Amino acid sequence: MNDLLFHHGTRETLKRQAQEGYAVVVPLAATEQHGPHLPVFTDSMIGEHIAFEACKKAAMSTKLLLAPTLVVGCSQHHLAYGGTLSFSSSTYLLMLKEIGESLVSGGFRKIIYLNAHGGNEPFMHQAAQDLAVQHDIWTASASYWSLSRSALMEIQAQEMGMVPGHAGGFETSLIASLAGHLIRSDTTDSPKHPQCSWINAGPPGSFVGKHSYLTGVDGYTDSALPADAAKGSMYLQAIIESTAHWLVQVGNWMNEGAEVTK
Ligand SMILES: [Zn+2]
Repeated sequence: MNDLLFHHGTRETLKRQAQEGYAVVVPLAATEQHGPHLPVFTDSMIGEHIAFEACKKAAMSTKLLLAPTLVVGCSQHHLAYGGTLSFSSSTYLLMLKEIGESLVSGGFRKIIYLNAHGGNEPFMHQAAQDLAVQHDIWTASASYWSLSRSALMEIQAQEMGMVPGHAGGFETSLIASLAGHLIRSDTTDSPKHPQCSWINAGPPGSFVGKHSYLTGVDGYTDSALPADAAKGSMYLQAIIESTAHWLVQVGNWMNEGAEVTK
């Protein structure tokens, strides 16, 4: 198997892989406040782990390369809390499109955005759509929680609180599994953390927002107290399986479609 990492390639190997029809997976994440207890790199650590493990699995069945994780995202709604690096929504959309344009310039014709931060999601889908309108290429985009929703529900991930939520029981479980030493247990939340019942509670595709409460109360959605490292690694496993499955499926569609248009 070729090296999975785009950034381990040379211009020569990448040019050849572009001609051979490799898809490039671009992981999107964030550097933003995650409550008083989790590191600001939470989404990047989670996203990078999922992207690497899922791509490693999928690469056994479909040709793909994994690009470096874009570790700064659109996190404007977290800036007020500190500990956040962010692009505005218009800059972020443009940045994603220009990353795609760079790949197109390098000869790649299949681009897949894989996301680990909610604030990036609408711009990721828009960038994927704009690129496929402007160039004769394939694009795809998804957030890990959408790909793994049914697998996570089957293993009762909802017992942690919101899935994925923000800095609550679910994300804290994932970090407990990946880098537990970074959790500040002296500052984890009291069990009385109030929930914002309306966050993500409407029908799929709807949005309800309130100033200062876009990510829950005090910048997190639910209590971290139920978090559990063993459950976190079980959730990660389910996410990696679902994501790898989707990458193979998308890779197959892109290959079939490439043949049809010839
Ligand atoms: Zn997060």
